[in-house]
Amino acid sequence: TVQSNIYPTKALQEMDAAHHLHPFSDMKALNQEGSRIITSATGVWLTDSDGNRIMDGMAGLWCVQVGHGRTEIADAVHKQMVELSYYNTFFKTTHPPAIELSRKLAELAPPHINRVFYCSSGSEANDTVFRMVRYYWDQMGKPDKKVIISRWNGYHGSTLAGTSLGGMKAMHAQGDLPVPGVHHINQPYWFGEGGDMSPDEFGLHAARELEKAIDEIGENKVAAFIAEPIQGAGGVIIPPDTYWPEVQRILKERDILFVADEVICGFGRLGRWFGSDYYGIEPDLMPIAKGLTSGYLPMGGVLVSDRVAEGVVGKGGDFNHGYTYSGHPACAAAALANLAIIEREGLVERVANDIGPYLKERWLKLADHPLVGEARMTGLVGALELVPDKADRHKRFKDVGVPGLLCRDISFENGLVMRAVRDSMIISPPLVLSHEEADFLVATAEKTLNDTY
Ligand code: PLP
Repeated sequence: TVQSNIYPTKALQEMDAAHHLHPFSDMKALNQEGSRIITSATGVWLTDSDGNRIMDGMAGLWCVQVGHGRTEIADAVHKQMVELSYYNTFFKTTHPPAIELSRKLAELAPPHINRVFYCSSGSEANDTVFRMVRYYWDQMGKPDKKVIISRWNGYHGSTLAGTSLGGMKAMHAQGDLPVPGVHHINQPYWFGEGGDMSPDEFGLHAARELEKAIDEIGENKVAAFIAEPIQGAGGVIIPPDTYWPEVQRILKERDILFVADEVICGFGRLGRWFGSDYYGIEPDLMPIAKGLTSGYLPMGGVLVSDRVAEGVVGKGGDFNHGYTYSGHPACAAAALANLAIIEREGLVERVANDIGPYLKERWLKLADHPLVGEARMTGLVGALELVPDKADRHKRFKDVGVPGLLCRDISFENGLVMRAVRDSMIISPPLVLSHEEADFLVATAEKTLNDTY
């Protein structure tokens, strides 16, 4: 039993406030209000230190695909830890779980992707991308190709490379970022930035910003374009249908690597194994993390196409990059057990054909609420845009972000974790969500909108 179970909530909150600096948290407010303490979880349900049950509408941080409390994963990790708790994959060594997982990922990935480089998180995956694309072009005799194009309001992690590739201005402002060599273009966010264009017009317009940027910088200087198939942390931004085909055309016509950040969209979130499968795009690199282990242990990686492997592997020499925990055996065992559950229970198909459409039909009806300007959902990831005047999509609340945070806190009190991004409310529930649980989710979201309004 964890010792903290013997302390009352207040005492735990005081210890927490005194000693733990939380990521992405206003620590002053946390110290005053006290943190929320989650003590256990099963399926899609969390229990807090006061014994309240709360639905995990965000699958933790978009990661717990198979739901909480799967003893099968814990057992696999335990077995692996007893047999080989740690060894590295540097200097031409490896171990069976890393070998088996690599083979499995090559099987699940699109046919032109057959290799994986491991790390412990999505941020490290994007640091790896940053170095790998430049190394690739060096190896191919084009060392001037260094610039990586990414998008404003994209999210690629919190390390220096991740923050720089990401387009979060509030993150850039802390630490004098981005690092040189990253160029941001606008995002395909029709509801927020589409002006008077139709979604399809705007999708083409946003894609052609990429073409313009490449032409301005010069194709001979651009190494790669990186983007999330659907932007998650930016507010579940689902691009118009015209966007990805046009981006793919632009990249096919030019000698530039395409990086699809699959950290959220991968492992079933959109009803296909990868977001790239869903959109029919063909990336050269796919950073992965989160759903790879359903968050049971930290693990990330970069799926590497045959094209990039030819530069990185085929030319010989070391890629001087790696992490102590690259391919960690216990994490690989967790990933294998997690992927086995996803396959055995048909969770990807379930998102495409069953719970995905079931939830979407009900979620989209929330657009009728006076506070909601748009409801959107693909697979099992969705958003509600809160607006002051639903007749006018261009109007925003004066204190942007405040209604969102209020709504998030009311939702928690009502028994549902939703995330607030500016004035949108986000959900990304575990893929095991049942129909009854989906009903609860939508009813609680509706009650929360009523309580916020
Ligand atoms: N890339 C995307 C698309 C993400 O959503 C995230 C995290 O939310 C990351 C990268 C960073 O992953 P991590 O937090 O595991 O470093």
